[in-house]
Amino acid sequence: ESAISGVEESGRTLIIGSSGFIGQFVAEVSLASGRPTYLLVRGGRMSSCKAKANAIMSLQEKGAIILQGSLNDKATMEKTLKEHKIEIVISAVGGGSILEQFVLVEAMKSVGTIKRFVPSEFGHDIDRANPVEPGLAMYKEKREVRRLVEGSGVPYTYICCNSIMAWPYHDNTHPADVLPPLDRFHIYGDGTVKAYFVAGSDIGKFTMKCLDDDRTLNKTVHFRPSTNLLSINELASLWEEKIGFKLPRVTVTEDDLLSAAQDMVIPQSIVAALTHDIFIKGCQVNYSLDEPSDVEVTSLYPDMPFKTVDECFGDFAKKIADVPKVVED
Ligand code: NDP
Repeated sequence: ESAISGVEESGRTLIIGSSGFIGQFVAEVSLASGRPTYLLVRGGRMSSCKAKANAIMSLQEKGAIILQGSLNDKATMEKTLKEHKIEIVISAVGGGSILEQFVLVEAMKSVGTIKRFVPSEFGHDIDRANPVEPGLAMYKEKREVRRLVEGSGVPYTYICCNSIMAWPYHDNTHPADVLPPLDRFHIYGDGTVKAYFVAGSDIGKFTMKCLDDDRTLNKTVHFRPSTNLLSINELASLWEEKIGFKLPRVTVTEDDLLSAAQDMVIPQSIVAALTHDIFIKGCQVNYSLDEPSDVEVTSLYPDMPFKTVDECFGDFAKKIADVPKVVED
């Protein structure tokens, strides 16, 4: 407790999953904004995965307070929430741990002092989109968590940030670790269906911004920055512009994606199912925000710019130390 003496009482935020892909972005922004930031960590900093241990250590150096524990341990969760007077809880657990949030919701309900909960979604509106299996199974779990949260009375915000900015490989779960292609483009279907691409840092920035805002209380926040709405054909042309040469385009058909989904290799088949939903069915753009529970983030914060796809692809290009000199046509 001594580590937190002098820390402001308000805005105490617990982040679960901060060693993960999305969770790291959220934790970085929480710390940068000066919030008292607590990270629930399983297995501690001596985690068997070095990259994860380093991620946690780096967040700790920036002021994060590390709490040991697992999401699915009710007694520990209740104690943690009470002892540290947590007001805001953000869960960014991965697709395999969605139902473990049940225990967390029960703990928040019994403690009764949580001002806002963000369950692990960070993608599409899971009540509207209906991907093929095995994507649908994950959505059904996320829906179950929504229903439990709504019934619990814990105030919540659902974050539908659409696609994280990266090349949308259909067989890669964490595309931001991987740069856009340098050999050939896989174009899904006719390549014209659009999607929203949001920088990881902006997913963190706008998620944190929503938490203190009454307008997002018990709402679904959709990230639809018009500057970041592109088709995969447009992404491919932009990337060619950045690297200065053309790449061949290979069509991946709807059937190809469906068969990769049907292979049921987890998690790759989930990514294939969601790729199908985004780039064939247009699940990010085929509905309007007409429910009373819908809010759109650029309308909430019109003066806060999103990092553009152009800027992000410029950054990716800078990372390529040895750009091939051969021009293909
Ligand atoms: P990761 O698998 O990268 O990370 C999951 C994190 O949750 C890890 O820190 C893990 O800890 C932690 N965790 C899991 N179970 C527990 C538990 N029982 N107790 C405490 N911590 C736990 O997840 P992602 O970042 O890939 O996914 C997060 C969310 O974002 C998901 O809902 C996913 O669907 C979504 N997503 C959205 C994307 C988009 O483009 N919009 C892209 C990718 C994900 P540990 O280190 O101990 O394993």
